[in-house]
Amino acid sequence: MTDAMFRPKGHDEVRGWLKHVIRTQRASGGYLFIGPGGIGKSSLALEFAAAMRCAAPVEGWSCGSCNECLRIARGVHPSVRSFAKPADKSAFPVELVRDIVDEASRKHLEPGQRTFIVADADRFNDSSANAFLKTLEEPPADLIFVLLAENLAQVIPTILSRCQTVRFSPLKDELVTEIARDWEGLPVSPDSRAVLVRVAQGSPGRLRQMGEAKVLETVREFLKSVERDPFHASDTLVASVQGGSDNESKRAQLREVIALLSAALRDRMLSSMDCDDMKPLTRTVQGEAQTTDRLVSSLHSLDDLRSRLDSNVNLKLCCDAIALAWPV
Ligand SMILES: [Zn+2]
Repeated sequence: MTDAMFRPKGHDEVRGWLKHVIRTQRASGGYLFIGPGGIGKSSLALEFAAAMRCAAPVEGWSCGSCNECLRIARGVHPSVRSFAKPADKSAFPVELVRDIVDEASRKHLEPGQRTFIVADADRFNDSSANAFLKTLEEPPADLIFVLLAENLAQVIPTILSRCQTVRFSPLKDELVTEIARDWEGLPVSPDSRAVLVRVAQGSPGRLRQMGEAKVLETVREFLKSVERDPFHASDTLVASVQGGSDNESKRAQLREVIALLSAALRDRMLSSMDCDDMKPLTRTVQGEAQTTDRLVSSLHSLDDLRSRLDSNVNLKLCCDAIALAWPV
């Protein structure tokens, strides 16, 4: 575990507020960290947990190097537990909630503050939420829950009302670029990196995933063939997501491909409206000028396909639809 992973850059305001919470000993039973995926919510939750147990706090915050901090950073501290929805489930399973509740009620061997970090709090269904409510409302005195969610609108109201909400904002592009400076798997060219940073929308985690999934390369391959043979271009997309370990990760990869294609279309629109000062996204798109109506229509189709990926749409059909929607 590197220091950078334990201490994500940015979010100084949130970190400052959490320090204040610790200093004034006003930690409540449940916090809900809300913000886009991959921007550092879980890392900061671990830092928060460490700050409450740290043997040698620095200015009221975790030192990052004592035995407590190191065990927490490595994910092996028995008092700091992380839970998440299994990748192959669409909702947070009620059985997992029962395990959490059961573990919360058990007496602990090591004294001190316990923290349970529960990701995917926006994926609870009524059954799992109901199983959780009583413990979330009145956790044992030594236990704090930190729930993580990306979509506030999808958090069940009874969960939301029992938590104090902490909002995380996307990071600035400059900071994301700096964080990712030494990462492997990203394009070497600064222009290509800048493209991905813009599409990552302030999320270093999302940038990392796009690099690992080689999304830019996929889009380049797609654009090479879509005009001549849209179904071959579709096959390119299908092949690119086959590396995903499960259906959910294949969908996640395809969402990023659509995000990059949508960004390219928006840039084409801006350039067709003489808005070149808005920094065109990419030189990879060499299309001729399109009518704005055609571009808008394609953009709507891509948005629609991206949202349909949240349901159980067939991936091959989705890739065909992307290729057919592309304005050639
Ligand atoms: Zn420490």
